Amino acid sequence: MSTLTAVVDDLVAANRILAGLGVLDGFGHVSVRHPDRADRFLLARSLAPELVTRDDIMTFDMASTPQDGDKRTPYLERFIHGEIFIQRPDVISIVHSHAATVVPFAASAVPLKPIYHMSSFLRTGAPVFEIREKFGMTDMLIRNNAQGAALAEKLGDNSAVLLRGHGYCAVGGSIPEAVFRAYYAQVNADLQQRAIALGGRVTYLEDEEARLYDETNRGVLGRPWGLWKAKFAPKD
Ligand SMILES: [Zn+2]
Repeated sequence: MSTLTAVVDDLVAANRILAGLGVLDGFGHVSVRHPDRADRFLLARSLAPELVTRDDIMTFDMASTPQDGDKRTPYLERFIHGEIFIQRPDVISIVHSHAATVVPFAASAVPLKPIYHMSSFLRTGAPVFEIREKFGMTDMLIRNNAQGAALAEKLGDNSAVLLRGHGYCAVGGSIPEAVFRAYYAQVNADLQQRAIALGGRVTYLEDEEARLYDETNRGVLGRPWGLWKAKFAPKD
């Protein structure tokens, strides 16, 4: 199997997994940088992630323009992917989600912070992108390269960025890492809200604790990925 075929299969698996885990529903998407060309990325055509197959994967340049004369309808928010790939050469995969548990943190002054080891990647923070700052009144979507670039700038060197009134993005150095971060950002948001609701002071992971678990996690990431693939990826 060529590298490209394997990457496309993993991208299809990521779509199914994220839908299966409830990170994506009829909306949201996941991309991967092209394994042979750093200036191209792969993303499904405009389709619910749970329905994505190999044949639905399109190739885009970093302006998020479809390649090879592909006339199929792309996602409206594809500019998220191109602009983050441009600004973050270390990023291989990007998930964009509207998962409900994260949205409150994009709308309130309470920052999303790592409440347990699984979300230690949040240790550097998850900044909130306020689209009104540069673009005034919009429908909240990232519809062009300028909006995508501003979002990528807000992401900075972090693993996740929240979009006020909209959702969030998680990035990773591989498809499994981006999927892991998208899922556990959502779980963290749920747990953090529960801890806050209990009242009293909430203790988050220290930066050093989170950094140490980050190192550990690199060695065990294959385990949840293997489980999720077995449960949700197409069997053919
Ligand atoms: Zn969106």
